[in-house]
Amino acid sequence: PAKQRGQNHQPLSLHLGRGTRTNIYAGTLSCREEEEDGGNVQYSTREMRVVLKILDSAHRDISLPFFETASMMRQVCHKHIVLLHGVCVRNLENIMVEEVVEFGALDLFMHRKSEHLSTAWKFLVAKQLASALSYLEDKNLVHGNVCTKNILLARQGLDGDSGPFIKLSDPGVPITVLSREERVERIPWIAPECMDDTKNLSIATDKWGFGTTLWSVCYNGELPLKDRSLAEKERFYEAHCKMTPPVCCKELAELMQQCMNYNPPERPFFRAIMRDINRLQEQSECHTHVSTCQAI
Ligand code: ATP
Ligand code: MG
Repeated sequence: PAKQRGQNHQPLSLHLGRGTRTNIYAGTLSCREEEEDGGNVQYSTREMRVVLKILDSAHRDISLPFFETASMMRQVCHKHIVLLHGVCVRNLENIMVEEVVEFGALDLFMHRKSEHLSTAWKFLVAKQLASALSYLEDKNLVHGNVCTKNILLARQGLDGDSGPFIKLSDPGVPITVLSREERVERIPWIAPECMDDTKNLSIATDKWGFGTTLWSVCYNGELPLKDRSLAEKERFYEAHCKMTPPVCCKELAELMQQCMNYNPPERPFFRAIMRDINRLQEQSECHTHVSTCQAI
């Protein structure tokens, strides 16, 4: 039977964290379902746990770019990308309503579980992220903020079950609205070509972000260049410096370097990246080996 859905929100609840110009809350979405049964219309209400990403009211001037992100996410349907249920405006608040991803951000998870992350686990995370980004590449959609804090874990995959299951979160407010200082803070996640001109944002940008993410995954969630000042970060890009390749995952290190190429057109296609990961995964003899990389 045909179903129609009306939706309304209950009061906000648990604060999950802060993002760039946003606050994130756990909430409940009530969906009113209308069902026709032999001429009679029946109503029922289904409740769903959701995440509410609310743009700070002080930043209402960037509502349009915020909703552009939502519009990009509405075009997407992939098992490794967070589902956007929709958007709403409540009083003066602009809100994205998204599916809950149970185990939260990948960076924090990797810090907590660093001793339990095997090479096989890391390969799976890399493979799933590459498949999400390959899907976006095929649809000619740019994410623009690929980093470990924007990857969420739906399944931990540490206890001999079928491995981790990730979901790439939305990119948040686009980098076009960030100040130069905010962009410098994002070095080395943000691609070098976007530092001086955010119009250079392209699918190649996501390849750089994927490379940085691989580095961080290999180093158990370590934040790249975390002790560097903003001036040092800027010099890092100006001098075309490279990240120290991880020794524990040599196979992924090579791929990471190809993605973090200062010349965007030379970065590989995500389809080729996926092929490489599959091949490397088969070759990798250390499926159960626990990595012991130390970030330098
Ligand atoms: P940014 O643009 O900097 O990514 P953001 O608004 O997307 O900002 P995040 O920093 O990515 O915010 O998210 C803040 C925190 O909210 C995350 O660390 C995570 O714990 C939580 N979170 C975000 N989205 C979800 C989700 N769909 N399910 C569960 N937790 C989430
Ligand atoms: Mg985010």
